[in-house]
Amino acid sequence: MSDLKVIRHPREMMDFSDAARARGERIGFVPTMGYLHDGHLSLMREARWRAEVVVASIFVNPTQFGPNEDLSRYPRDFARDCAMMETVPVDVVFAPEAADMYPSRSQTWVEVTELTRGLCGKGRPGHFRGVTTVVAKLFNIVKPHLAFFGEKDFQQLRAIQRMVADLNFDIEIVPMPIVRECDNLAMSSRNKYLTPEQHRDALAVSGAIAEVRKHFREMRAPDEIVRTAMKILACPGVAVEYIEVVDAETLEPATSLDAPVLMAIAARVGNTRLIDNVVLSR
Ligand code: AMP
Repeated sequence: MSDLKVIRHPREMMDFSDAARARGERIGFVPTMGYLHDGHLSLMREARWRAEVVVASIFVNPTQFGPNEDLSRYPRDFARDCAMMETVPVDVVFAPEAADMYPSRSQTWVEVTELTRGLCGKGRPGHFRGVTTVVAKLFNIVKPHLAFFGEKDFQQLRAIQRMVADLNFDIEIVPMPIVRECDNLAMSSRNKYLTPEQHRDALAVSGAIAEVRKHFREMRAPDEIVRTAMKILACPGVAVEYIEVVDAETLEPATSLDAPVLMAIAARVGNTRLIDNVVLSR
C-alpha cells in the first residue's frame, strides 16, 4: 500500500498545504516535468531531509515550450514516476491538468528581465517567462517553506532566485548539484531520446566540462576556457548552440576569471537539445 497522495486540483493542494502549515509542519517542494531520474530524486531526498512534508509536482508546462519544441512528445510515465517517488518517500505529488493551471481567462505573466536575455533565453524566446510564471503559480498553490532546484538548469535557478527576491516570496530556494550518469552525461529526461550512438556523441558535452575543470588553474582569461572546451566539443554529431563563459551571479559575459564564472553549453545531438554547465572559481 502506497502512502503517496496524488492531488490533481490546485484548490485541493492549497487546502492540504494550509492544513500542514496550521500543524506547524515545514513544506519542502520539488517542481518537475516528470519522467523522473536520479537528478530529480536527489532534490526530493534533500527535501525529505529538510522538511516534514515533501511535495513534488509533475506538470509539463505548455507555456515554457516554443511552437517548434517538444511539448507533445515530451516523455511521460506517471506510474513509473510515482513508483520512484515512493522510494524517497515523497508525501504528495501535485499533478494538475493544464486547463486547471491556465484557465482561459489567464492574462498575467511573471518575467525576470536581464537574467533571462542571454544563454538559453536567446534561442528559446518566451521560455523563461513560462518557467517563472508557472513556478510563481506553483509557489502560491503549494505554499512551500523550501523549494529545491537543480544547478543543471543554472539560468532557471538564477531567474527563480531573482523572482523570489523581487516579489518577496517567503521561500528558501535550495540549489542542488548536477547529478550525472556513470559516464558523466548530465541526467535529463530528454536523454531518453538519444540512440546509443547519440549518447556516445553527447559525452563530448560533459567531456568538454571535464577538460576545462582539469586545466582551469592554468587559465588566465574566459576565452581560454571556450577554446579548451571547443577542442572536445567540435566533433561530428554535436551541433553547438552556444558555449559561453559568464559571471556566475549576473550571467553577463565574463571579462576576467577573478570572480566565479559559469561555463554553460547548449548543444544538439540529433534532434535532442542538451545543456550542461560548471561553475569555476579560483
Ligand atoms: P525538469 O523536470 O527537467 O523540469 O527538472 C526539474 C528539476 O530537476 C529542476 O530543478 C532541474 O534543475 C532539476 N534537475 C534536472 N536534471 C537534473 C540533474 N541531472 N541533476 C540535478 N538536478 C536536476
